[in-house]
Amino acid sequence: QCVSVCPTGALTEQTARPEIWNALFDPDKYVIAQTAPAIRAAIGEEFGMAPGEAVTGKLVAALNNLGFDDVFDTDFAADLTIMEEANEIVERVTRQENLPILTSCCPGWINFLEYQFPDLSHIPSTCKSPQQMMGAIVKSYYAEKLGKKPEDIVLVSVMPCLAKKYEAARPEFAPQGVPDVDHVVSTRGLAKMIKEAGIDLATLEDEDFDHPLGESTGAGVIFGVSGGVMEAALRTAYETVTGKQLAKLEFKQVRGLEAIKTTTVNLDGTILRLAITSGLGAARTVLEQIRNNEVQYDIIEIMACPGGCINGGGQPSIHGDFSLIEKRRQALYSEDEGKALRKSHLNPSIQKLYEEFLGQPGSEKAHRLLHTHYFPNKDYSEE
Ligand code: SF4
Repeated sequence: QCVSVCPTGALTEQTARPEIWNALFDPDKYVIAQTAPAIRAAIGEEFGMAPGEAVTGKLVAALNNLGFDDVFDTDFAADLTIMEEANEIVERVTRQENLPILTSCCPGWINFLEYQFPDLSHIPSTCKSPQQMMGAIVKSYYAEKLGKKPEDIVLVSVMPCLAKKYEAARPEFAPQGVPDVDHVVSTRGLAKMIKEAGIDLATLEDEDFDHPLGESTGAGVIFGVSGGVMEAALRTAYETVTGKQLAKLEFKQVRGLEAIKTTTVNLDGTILRLAITSGLGAARTVLEQIRNNEVQYDIIEIMACPGGCINGGGQPSIHGDFSLIEKRRQALYSEDEGKALRKSHLNPSIQKLYEEFLGQPGSEKAHRLLHTHYFPNKDYSEE
């Protein structure tokens, strides 16, 4: 058993590799992988490649070589998260109700909130994390397209994170007893599987994600860094609210590795007060300020790991080397800059998903599949 300590200080890693190998060798199962944005900026380090060298195409090739039937990108689900979250932000800010709204894609911090700040569990966004949104869509929309039952599909998440394992196991994410996400493997765990299969990731030719759930924009890519969810949401919220195109996509004031960043943005006359935090110490500081009415923010992004998921507990070399984290950060911003589409609402596969299946952001179906609720005083780390 692989055991390593999560930087949140709360969780230890248990490997899912045997179950994943069994699924890959089971002829009756259709096995799908999804990979989070931070994986591509770090897994190359396990194969002697330079820190920060993005290996997206080689990662996809390795997953195809392992025998996955489809390889999807969690960045697609990050784009979907932005569609739902930007809609929720606009609604709550317009009505000036239940503010600040807190981002909800980091299960490490959601677990912390439920246990440490139960009185504030009504303010996070109700959006599921990208991992869980992908699971819900794979086991409904995509299962229908494949003509398969949800229980015949096995969805494996490759995550930089140990808290994602606990998130996938939450009972509310297993409708009718079938989990939306079946197994979660960390970046280090996937590197072990690739080595167990005798594959050298560094020598593989690039391959593309499968469609439709592999198509993503630059906004989805930057979910892996502190400030990325905020920036992605602002790109879509601005264009939704104003009907105008953003002249400049980069919101550089929300970027950086500082534990707490505060700023304001002017969305065509609407001033939004923002805070971006990473690390649970910083989260505690900001949450105590909110509890004591010492600060007024409209939107807050919180990530449990300092610097965001690029520094997650499942990544290689988690020893607080911030020069390495900086290189991973730059890798994701470079991938964003290189994308033809950089705003979530312009992702054609997302647009098709709403046309064919979900209706509008915030629809009854979108709420049933893509939103959740929180449980005050719940401490999943003790289970
Ligand atoms: Fe997981 Fe850390 Fe990312 Fe939160 S910030 S989702 S705990 S890797």
